[in-house]
Amino acid sequence: MTSQARQDLAVLTVPAFNDNYLWVIHDGVHAAVVDPGDAGPIQETLAEHHLTLSAILLTHHHADHIGGVPALLAQGSVPVFGPRNDGIEGITQALGEGERMKVPGLDLELEVLEVPGHTLGHIAYVRRTPGAHWLFCGDTLFAGGCGRLFEGTPAQMADSLAKLAALPDDTLVYCAHEYTVSNLRFAQAVEPDNQGLALRMKDASERRGTRLPTVPSTIGLERGTNPFLRYTEPGIVKSLMEAGRLKEGAAPVEAFAALREWKNVF
Ligand SMILES: [Zn+2]
Repeated sequence: MTSQARQDLAVLTVPAFNDNYLWVIHDGVHAAVVDPGDAGPIQETLAEHHLTLSAILLTHHHADHIGGVPALLAQGSVPVFGPRNDGIEGITQALGEGERMKVPGLDLELEVLEVPGHTLGHIAYVRRTPGAHWLFCGDTLFAGGCGRLFEGTPAQMADSLAKLAALPDDTLVYCAHEYTVSNLRFAQAVEPDNQGLALRMKDASERRGTRLPTVPSTIGLERGTNPFLRYTEPGIVKSLMEAGRLKEGAAPVEAFAALREWKNVF
């Protein structure tokens, strides 16, 4: 008989490698882990909080998101959820667009969105419980930025980000890296007059000054300050043209592509 009582669902932030965040969703007894690139920090977190792993959720095939799976499974078999089309071996429950899943061990239902761009099969997990909107988006949307286009096209990534931007403003964005300050530096370069962005940079810099995470952010904050959700804003289009990266009258997707390429060399 365990002395632990089940609590409301909570999410623990588990730093790993240089700048990754792994996420542990738990109710005080059971836990599901999102994108365990490294098993060690996950195992330490589970032990520290006396949690039993009940599921693994994966967003895409990169090693810093799946590398810890074999070591976690070696401790005990649990279901592994992941994208149907991203070439990950060992997934026991393959998922695609619009599918809903109940997370084993937890009172948690998530919906899956396909968000190709960073990789072709990348998925995101959305919790739509009123008052508790969550998004686990891997390397698609970052705080103040977006993932690199390793496999997909700019049009695919722009569509994927539009899906995420359509989520409620209070949706918490659990992205997989602490890139916020460098993302916001670029955002300020392309949208220098955005006052919300200036405030966000101040807040993020202060948090990083004391080594606090800047994530999760919210969809509302991203819509107001993330240039990759704002590439049709006149100020951003003007910056792209002044930098010689966009021609007059170009299509919106060309502005998105130009913005992503500029960030790659910023
Ligand atoms: Zn990745």
